[in-house]
Formats: sequence, C-alpha cells, structure tokens
Amino acid sequence: MSEFWSDVVKRLTPYVPGEQPKLANLVKLNTNENPYDPSPRVLKAIRGAVGENLRLYPDPNADALKEAIADHFAVTSINVFVGNGSDEILAHVFLGLLKHDQPVLFPDITYSFYPVYCGLYEIAFNTVPLTKDFSIRIADYDQPNGGIIFPNPNAPTGRAISLDEIEQLLQMHPHKVIVIDEAYVDFGGESAIPLTHRYPNLLVVHTFSKSRSLAGLRVGFAIGHSDLIEALERVKNSFNSYPLDSLAMAGAIAALEDKAHFERTRKAIIHTRENLVSALEALGFEVLPSVANFVFVRHPQHDAEKSALALRQHGIVVRHFKLPRIEQFLRITIGTDDQCAILIKALQEILAQR
Ligand SMILES: *Cc1c(COP(=O)(O)O)cnc(C)c1O
Repeated sequence: MSEFWSDVVKRLTPYVPGEQPKLANLVKLNTNENPYDPSPRVLKAIRGAVGENLRLYPDPNADALKEAIADHFAVTSINVFVGNGSDEILAHVFLGLLKHDQPVLFPDITYSFYPVYCGLYEIAFNTVPLTKDFSIRIADYDQPNGGIIFPNPNAPTGRAISLDEIEQLLQMHPHKVIVIDEAYVDFGGESAIPLTHRYPNLLVVHTFSKSRSLAGLRVGFAIGHSDLIEALERVKNSFNSYPLDSLAMAGAIAALEDKAHFERTRKAIIHTRENLVSALEALGFEVLPSVANFVFVRHPQHDAEKSALALRQHGIVVRHFKLPRIEQFLRITIGTDDQCAILIKALQEILAQR
C-alpha cells in the first residue's frame, strides 16, 4: 500500500493465475493448457509474419482475423470482436455491457476473475449459489439484475447446461445482456453461437488458449449482435487500439484453418478424460461430470490441500482453490495419456501412505 495509489487500486484484490512453475519436467495439470502442440500451420504462419513489417502497427480492426472467425462460425464480421486473450474481452464486457444500476449476477462458484473485474470497474454483483450437486439452475436467476455471466461448461466444475436452458434465460431477461463464456466448449459442450442470430442480448466469448493450444499467443473473440460488438469496440478504442499484434493474428487465422488438427487434439483430450475419470473413481474420488479439459474431484477420506502438496512432491501440479464449498476439491487438467498415467500412479502411492 502506498500513498501514491489511487483509491480504486488500494481496494483491488487482483486475480491470481495458476502458477507457471520455473522447474523443468513437471507434469503441469494446473492451468487447463492444452497438452498438445499447436498446429504446425500456426507456427509456419507466425514465422512467415516475422519480418521488416513488424515496423508497422498491426491492423487495428483485425479485419482478416474477424473475417476468418465469421466464416468459421457462419456469422458476419460485424458480429465479431477480437481481443488479446478472452480475459481482455471479458474486462471490456464488464465495463461496456454489464455495468448498470442493478448488480450483475454470476454463480458463487465460477471463474474467479469475474469479481475482480467488478472490483476494477466498481460494478455491483450478486452471486447465485450453484445447487448442491454444483449445477447452474436457471430458475435461480429469476431476479433483478444488470446482466448475467457464466462459463458453459462452468469452471472450475466442468458441468454444462443445455442450450434450452440458456434460451430460457435469454427469454427470462430479454433486456439484459447474457454472456456465455465458452472457454471450454470444444471439449464436449454445445456452443450458443447459433442463438446469437435470434437473441440480440446474447454475447458468446471464446478463446484460442484452450482448445487451440495457443495460451501463449493471447487471442480471444466474442460473437453477438452488432450493437453489443459496437459497445466492445468503443471500450477497446478508448483503451488500446492495437490489442492484437501481427504475429497473433497470423497464428490465429492459421489455427482456424487447420480443422483436422483441432478435431484430432480435442478428441484425444475427450478420450483421455473418460479414461482418467474411471481411474480416479477406482481410487475412490468423486468426479463431477465434466465436458471440459479438466475434472473437478474430491476424495471423501483425503484432504485436498494435502493431496495437492503431496502431488507436487511427485512433480505434478494441480489446482486447489482455498474457497468456501470447494476447498476439498482438486481441479485437474486433462494431460496426455502418459501424464495422466503418471498422475494416477502418484495418487495410488499417496493414498496408500495415509
Ligand atoms: C482460461 C479462461 C479464460 C481466459 O482465457 P484467455 O483467452 O487465455 O484469456 C476465460 N474464461 C474462462 C472460464 C477460462 O477458464
């Protein structure tokens, strides 16, 4: 704390991302990165974009990338917004679309960045408890609000709700913006993007970080009615006109083009997840049903924090949140088959010792 800080900064509780350990050879299952390399076409496109042209500013409107996204998802580019990771887009969404007189609503257990944006932009929020089995129940959102946001599938639970339920919510609040954060949708969920044609109050946010193996490149996008997109453009152009660099745009376009790589890697992760769930259940873990690239698990006889520490001693990092209702859970990213085998072997040893 310093006298030089503004009042807003003094009051902030910043988001703490999962650790990026500096140790080599760790089995890193803590931040939901993709265990597979990005498409070789991405690397080629980025290499091709390295040159004297880096002297120039990138296209501030990212037209080529917006066109590629629009084509891919059968919308037009006026329905597409792009940002430097979906985290940046979410920040603009909170300021541009969710800051109203009434509080924004999100689940009590969800992406923990949402309350941080509320702190930054001084936005009132109410949390809506997940049910006892950690599901989102749409009827619980039948209350006054200034907008609603949650991931589908939700994080860190991995549970998804159906498009029918999302439609019920859109119809329940036709004059509020409903934001669906689809960071994990490609691992078995159903995208709400087609609903954006019929619901002008729906904004769907996506990222290249998880299902396209590009967390390091920082590219996200949002799809919705052009009025919603215009609000985001207004915020972006009052904040940073050039959020996406030329290399990121080249890489992201190439990632969309390599559909075969995308299908192969996401299917491999789904397959590994199914095997991992069975192996964890055989060890006595309760596993929430997941359609994401992670599972959220607890063991009735073993303390989650202690298990996380023990795993670390075996060179394996997973995520533990010291938060109400979920402090006995571990969130484990789906790695390769080999990484998951190493995890299961370590857990067998750890559980046998205690
Ligand atoms: C990972 C994640 C994001 C952020 O993704 P970036 O595009 O890497 O910023 C957004 N929402 C949820 C729920 C996530 O898990």
